[in-house]
Amino acid sequence: SPAGARPALPRTLVLANQKGGVGKTTTAINLGTALAAIGEKVLILDLDPQGNASTGLGLDRKNRPVSTYHVLTGEASLESAITPTAVPRLFVAPSTLDLLGVELEISGERDRVQRLKKAISALMTSEVSDPFTYILIDCPPSLNLLTINALTAADAVLVPLQCEFFALEGLSQLLKTVEQVRSALNPTLTIHGVVLTMFDPRNNLSGQVVADVRQFMGSKVYETMIPRNVRVSEAPSHGKPVLLYDLKCAGSQAYLRLASEIIQRERALRAA
Ligand code: ADP
Ligand code: MG
Repeated sequence: SPAGARPALPRTLVLANQKGGVGKTTTAINLGTALAAIGEKVLILDLDPQGNASTGLGLDRKNRPVSTYHVLTGEASLESAITPTAVPRLFVAPSTLDLLGVELEISGERDRVQRLKKAISALMTSEVSDPFTYILIDCPPSLNLLTINALTAADAVLVPLQCEFFALEGLSQLLKTVEQVRSALNPTLTIHGVVLTMFDPRNNLSGQVVADVRQFMGSKVYETMIPRNVRVSEAPSHGKPVLLYDLKCAGSQAYLRLASEIIQRERALRAA
């Protein structure tokens, strides 16, 4: 196929689900770490005012002089917000609670939904020698202006879905929003995949939810499921991705498998 039809770098994936507590932030941190561990250069863009991705990557609130808030208001470039982490090749553009007010502050601007897309484009022209190969955007648990900015800027959506009874209900709403953004703002936006999180093989309900989601979403569901694993939930309080905290645990190993599955899907897209 002609080079122009192939997905360009970086690949910008948005972790979206308007439900809180489903594993968006955990997946952003640990998938990002796993991708970096296998040689990708990764930027985690924290778009949640809570800043849990920034904290979980060891970045104190005091050490966020430039944040995604400044990027969205136009006060600073995305490049100037980027901070290294303890993981080689993994960087974060942190967020602060200021982000809570950004929706009001830019609501009168004509380009309010394109702010992030423009910031990423500017980054791509400034980082030509050693570009990022993946940008992962961590979203807040709502379908607000922040999430719309992320969906407008992204190539594809990665949906973390917790293995629980109401999982599918929220998914339909999210898919509807993705469809609206695709038709109005970002015609090439795709669903990259659905990752089932906090899977518990001893729980019958978990198994039933997995079967339902696989029936509904087919091959969009990644083979890899992220098990419920206490090491995964302990790691953020140490300011570390679980892969640095306990590489051998089931959670770390699952995120490594997910990263290679994602890279395989990307290779298939590139070869098509
Ligand atoms: P979201 O960003 O969607 O709100 P989080 O990633 O913050 O969700 O996860 C919600 C909570 O569940 C956090 O306390 C997190 O540590 C925990 N958690 C996430 N994934 C796992 C997992 N695989 N095993 C155990 N706990 C998990
Ligand atoms: Mg979160």
